[in-house]
Amino acid sequence: MFGKEFQRKYALTDQGIRNTKQGTFWTVIVNLVVMGGMGILYLMMSEYMAVLTDGKELPKAVTFILLVLAFLVLSIITHLQQYQVTYGLVYGEVKAVRLSLAERLRKLPLGYFGKRDLADLTETIMGDVNRLEHVWSHCLGYLYGSYISTAIIAVCMLFYNWRLAIACLWGVPVAFILLFGSRKLTRRNSEITKAAGVQVSDGIQETLENIREIRATNQEDRFLKVLNDKIDYHEKTMLRGELHTGIFVNAASVIMRLGVATTILTGTSLILSGQIDFMTLFMFLLAITRIYAPFDQALALIAEMFMSQISAGRLMEIYDAKTAEGADTFAPAGHDIVFENVGFAYDNEQVLRGVSFTAKEGEVTALVGPSGSGKSTCARLAARLWDITEGSIRVGGIDISTVDPETLLTDYSMVFQDVVLFDDTVMENIRLGRHGATDEEVLAAAAAANCDEFAEKLPQGYATPIGENGTKLSGGERQRISIARALLKNAPIVLLDEATASLDVENETKVQEALSRLLAGKTVLVIAHRMRTVEAADKIVVLSDGRVAEEGSPEELLKKENGIFRRMTQLQSASAGWSI
Ligand code: ADP
Repeated sequence: MFGKEFQRKYALTDQGIRNTKQGTFWTVIVNLVVMGGMGILYLMMSEYMAVLTDGKELPKAVTFILLVLAFLVLSIITHLQQYQVTYGLVYGEVKAVRLSLAERLRKLPLGYFGKRDLADLTETIMGDVNRLEHVWSHCLGYLYGSYISTAIIAVCMLFYNWRLAIACLWGVPVAFILLFGSRKLTRRNSEITKAAGVQVSDGIQETLENIREIRATNQEDRFLKVLNDKIDYHEKTMLRGELHTGIFVNAASVIMRLGVATTILTGTSLILSGQIDFMTLFMFLLAITRIYAPFDQALALIAEMFMSQISAGRLMEIYDAKTAEGADTFAPAGHDIVFENVGFAYDNEQVLRGVSFTAKEGEVTALVGPSGSGKSTCARLAARLWDITEGSIRVGGIDISTVDPETLLTDYSMVFQDVVLFDDTVMENIRLGRHGATDEEVLAAAAAANCDEFAEKLPQGYATPIGENGTKLSGGERQRISIARALLKNAPIVLLDEATASLDVENETKVQEALSRLLAGKTVLVIAHRMRTVEAADKIVVLSDGRVAEEGSPEELLKKENGIFRRMTQLQSASAGWSI
């Protein structure tokens, strides 16, 4: 019952399975104890009825009082146990699942995040786990425990009087068949509601992220309308889902309760024909109330269980996604980066084909080419942010696809266009470059990256908080923080996306000075945008439509008649802004 498939279906950890088993066990015990209470009631009734009908002596109350007390004590103990295993343990499980999900996400290749966006993943870690938590704590143990206890009680009833037992119990399987029959509809509704919910989160995230652009272009009304429509649709799908579920759950509950009517009808006719006495019917009627009670709770939750399987599916999809694995050690012979016949596709669209070039240690290799030609992709692949589909990339003779990405990245510094800053001080943002760096080291790197000049103007210097994603800083300042991080890390390979087109001349010189300090002696792969960098590079790789079109030193390439590089430089020198 609680095998591997069950574990996957509800995304349970091994501990979760153990908890569910315990929860089921204690639910069985609780249900049987409660049924025992009904037995005491039956005994009392039959003794007192005998006084009225057969003129027997009044029984001693003390026996019953003791029985009731024993029942109460047992009931409290078993309920407490059930509570502890079904609710108490589940919170630990939730924490374990969230942490293991986060750990898993950390190991997934970046390509995965293109398939499932941030709102979607957040929804899984928070929403889906919440939904599952409710199922783990409120449903699984209760439902499976009730299956077992009802089966036990049903067998006893069948032995006692099979006709009455069938009259009592026929509704239970029929109700479940009805609910299981509606499972497909419930799931489909749930999938639609979920997709609509993700759309709403996406819409809110998009609006917040682009709030400045939206205001600047006076598009508030349009954005709000789109968002409103998404929310309305989500509400509609939720209502429709609830309505469908409600209809089936209530119909199932009513059918189950029809058992009371059939028991009374069958019981009365059996009494009239003299096959049973009134007390037997009374016992069955008592039992019936207890049989339905746990199912009533379970029925209300069963729809949630079906829906939770979708959440579990989304969770399992994260667990099942292929992580980028590899060796935990990386000891290359030097840091030359060699691309050999590299082919790569983000989804199905081939972006790079047969790309081969070498970026030598101690040299600056500039990637040049029109927008969309694959420069950034090459830089990302060089750091194994994605895995390539053809060919190989080697660093110091070692194929990087054999090295654990986290280990590999200790040898890389990346200064990319989109500098990510955290809502912390300037100091701590720089310290991210190397965990555990001392204040002196951080300040030295900051000074070398020309951060002093702007940091000194901030109210608390390097201790100034810089707001979420560094909104208080200019583009050039953000970039210098990013360079300071890289200087602090002092990794042998530097990947640089040099987008300084938006900086003013003074800033550009400052950034340039900081960069030349960073790059000295390293293997540098730069996505070049500026003439100066390209001219100063030791080697240029011209990419065009995902292939290497030209390769060589700037002088060599400039000499090439009809060469792409030569044509681009001529064009760019003629225009005011220099951007390739
Ligand atoms: P460049 O840096 O030269 O402008 P890129 O390497 O960014 O070029 O892009 C090369 C091609 O890959 C483009 O067609 C671009 O649309 C596509 N591309 C880039 N990043 C992604 C991504 N994350 N998912 C899918 N396609 C992408």
